[in-house]
Amino acid sequence: MEVIRIAPRGYCHGVVEAIRLAKRVSAERGATEPIAMLGYLVHNEHVTDELAKSGVRLVDADDRMAGLDQIGSGTVIFTAHGISPAIVATAKARHLNVVDATCSDVTRTHDLIRSLTDDGFHVVYIGKRGHPEPEGATGVAPEHTTLIETVDEVDRLDFPPGTRLAVTCQTTLSLWDTQTIINRLRTRFPDIEVHNEICRATQERQEAAVTAAASVDCVVVVGSPRSSNSVRLVQVVSERAGKPAFLVDTADDLDPAWFGSVRRVGVTSGASTPTQLTRAVIATLEALPGAPTPG
Ligand code: SF4
Repeated sequence: MEVIRIAPRGYCHGVVEAIRLAKRVSAERGATEPIAMLGYLVHNEHVTDELAKSGVRLVDADDRMAGLDQIGSGTVIFTAHGISPAIVATAKARHLNVVDATCSDVTRTHDLIRSLTDDGFHVVYIGKRGHPEPEGATGVAPEHTTLIETVDEVDRLDFPPGTRLAVTCQTTLSLWDTQTIINRLRTRFPDIEVHNEICRATQERQEAAVTAAASVDCVVVVGSPRSSNSVRLVQVVSERAGKPAFLVDTADDLDPAWFGSVRRVGVTSGASTPTQLTRAVIATLEALPGAPTPG
């Protein structure tokens, strides 16, 4: 079967920097104090398993404050998805050593929300409920932000007359879904100030996947079901290009039945997927026979 390697794919700068930071902290402090990451450093279990082997314990709780209660001493690493100021303050008050692996693109969104709300705006934040990035971002100014997830929620928004509104978003959403929600917001609130914060890594990977999907029979996305940007890659290939798309964590998840009538398959991967997993998926696909050429 012909395998088309879609580029760019795989690790983004935020993931590379977060992993590098966690490894450095583990090397420098691992022998003298306990080290914990508060949630998945990046959303890939293979990455966090590797870090666990080097002494960085994963503390995964429903919310970050509950997780923080499980870290009694030593160093706490905040994940690439960002963290709310209340959690940082609590960790410091408990005399934990704080290491912040927040991606610089997420930090920029936090700074934006802080600046907008300081200026008197109320911020509508488009993001996925339960994901750590919206938890951290809306935590910058909880009284002055409203989290929405779908276009239908725009119609239910209600603000006092005279409220100055701005909109921003999670960095890893679908480009097209987010634009649809922003368009509806503009229709309902014509003066709303728009700050689309989908990061460049997400944009480039989604656009490349949709473009490549036009010339293949289906697309395989290598990534964890936890990973927002990996799940969105599957979604945009299916919705924008109208091609089947499959999410696999490793090569073991590939089902040959998916490829019975496939001659060309595209492969991409999420921003937190280790390269060796994608390589193994490509090798497995290349070994499959593929559909016979018609005629
Ligand atoms: S996907 Fe974007 S926001 Fe998330 S870590 Fe990568 S560069 Fe940063």
